[in-house]
Amino acid sequence: MLKGKTAVVTGGSRGIGAEIANKLAQNGADIALLYAGNDEAASKVVSAISRLGNKCVAYKCDVSDFNSSRNTVERIITDFGEIDILVNNAGIVRDGFVLSMQEEDFDDVIAVNLKGSFNMIKHVYRHMMKRRTGRIINISSVVGLSGNAGQSNYAASKAGLIGLTKSTAKELAGRGITCNAVAPGYIETDMTASLSEGVKAGYISAIPMRRAGNGSEVADAVLFLASNMADYITGEVIKVDGGLSM
Ligand code: NAP
Repeated sequence: MLKGKTAVVTGGSRGIGAEIANKLAQNGADIALLYAGNDEAASKVVSAISRLGNKCVAYKCDVSDFNSSRNTVERIITDFGEIDILVNNAGIVRDGFVLSMQEEDFDDVIAVNLKGSFNMIKHVYRHMMKRRTGRIINISSVVGLSGNAGQSNYAASKAGLIGLTKSTAKELAGRGITCNAVAPGYIETDMTASLSEGVKAGYISAIPMRRAGNGSEVADAVLFLASNMADYITGEVIKVDGGLSM
């Protein structure tokens, strides 16, 4: 399905991003994955994908850093020749109620989740425009649509990502490039592992399908948006949440 394509997956070393990298590779894509600092996790994903026979390289890069992101995109183009698919998946949480949230907790979350996605789009934009083809997929969250007490920074970053998605989609639609978002609900990963059992049970009782999702189910939506099956879809937000935000 994606044979001969190169996909860049930010935060591809763990959780949902690792599932996305694996799923795109299983469907033929070569993978450039970006990660923040966990070398061991990144090299595990590289080994698994390389065993499939696909090219896979991991780049340590803080996506919130404009110059590092630009240098990494340039290195990827040198190493792979082109970029067909960009998945902006890297994300962090720094939860707390507005009353107690520190300024840096707000700034850090916006910097990684929202500005980091802008940085990556900005650096691949010209490259994709020249080739008049490309797929950009941003991993938002259902809390970007509904808000969530204790996550004002995170929800704002994910709502902003939807605005970024739709604006980019409008700018690039005439150039053969689509830009869409996937909004996961409650997915079991390292990010949600630290939630208390009570909070987890609360989420699950609010989900009509009565279970958490997994990264592979989010990756299925990304694969669809990256494939020819989504040729005429842009500016869309696909929820993968077991019905949570209906
Ligand atoms: P995770 O398990 O915590 O993994 C986060 C990934 O992002 C890791 O690969 C990490 O790299 C990377 N990363 C963090 N900061 C980065 C930075 N500054 N630059 C580059 N890479 C960075 O998270 P997850 O649960 O898989 O979440 C993935 C995405 O889905 C996030 O955008 C998250 O907001 C979104 N999401 C998750 C859920 C959920 O329930 N889990 C729900 C909705 C949306 P290292 O391995 O090097 O640390």
